[in-house]
Amino acid sequence: MADCRHCRRDTDLFLCTLCAKELGALLSDLPWLLRQLDITVTRQDKLGTAQVGKSSDNPSPINVGAMELARNLHGQLGTLVRDLCESRGMQVPARKWTTVNLAGWLEINLQAITCSEGAGEVYDEIRSATDAILAAINRTSRMWCGPCTTVVAHDQTGADIECGIDLYADRENLAEQIQCPKCRMFCEPRLQLLNTIKRGDLLPEAKLLEIMDSLGEKVSRNRFYDWIKAGSIRPRGYVHHGRIVAERIRREDLRVFSLSQARQLRWRETEGAA
Ligand SMILES: [Zn+2]
Ligand SMILES: [Zn+2]
Repeated sequence: MADCRHCRRDTDLFLCTLCAKELGALLSDLPWLLRQLDITVTRQDKLGTAQVGKSSDNPSPINVGAMELARNLHGQLGTLVRDLCESRGMQVPARKWTTVNLAGWLEINLQAITCSEGAGEVYDEIRSATDAILAAINRTSRMWCGPCTTVVAHDQTGADIECGIDLYADRENLAEQIQCPKCRMFCEPRLQLLNTIKRGDLLPEAKLLEIMDSLGEKVSRNRFYDWIKAGSIRPRGYVHHGRIVAERIRREDLRVFSLSQARQLRWRETEGAA
């Protein structure tokens, strides 16, 4: 028996089952995030050129930030892969790998990571890399547009089964179509958002606050809790296995609130203050 190198729980390996699972999830998101980072670098590149014109060779400071991060991550993941290969007696992959390749390699070799002494450092580095990318691609400019409504299959009764993955758009670029990362269909961010509002009035609080923010009707978490405390807004049910039910069945079932009610409340308070 040893300690998990991340959380210190007892484990036979260097990462406990939970931490290994978490690392696996982080690694499976990493290629996508790296591609978003690439897009950010390219976009800021264009922006920089447009703003400063031909006369200046100075890249914009943000651009350097994202670009530098991309470069650092390439080196960092390369080192992780090399160290891991050396410690496990595996063949070191060629140097010309892209950062996405390196991330993919780490994901496939999760098992090897959990069996290696450096598992704790790998965990920490991947976690901080993820945070750094999220900061660089400016998550605040990401707008949640609701779950993808593309019909991908039908069940035994012939009812539609939708793709359902959360879609995000760039707030400054709403006219641009977005592609669903899962089913690959293209859609209009604004239409998608409208659809979400029309269809899903009952939402868990995190989604509800996210969508109000998307609508430009931001409500802070504290203010929302004040509403709950005051009884101005009450849970209308719980999400259990993707369905809304009246009573909480399992502890992790999220409570749902009415979006239109929350919007009305906000509107009334704002009107009252005005
Ligand atoms: Zn652990
Ligand atoms: Zn989809």
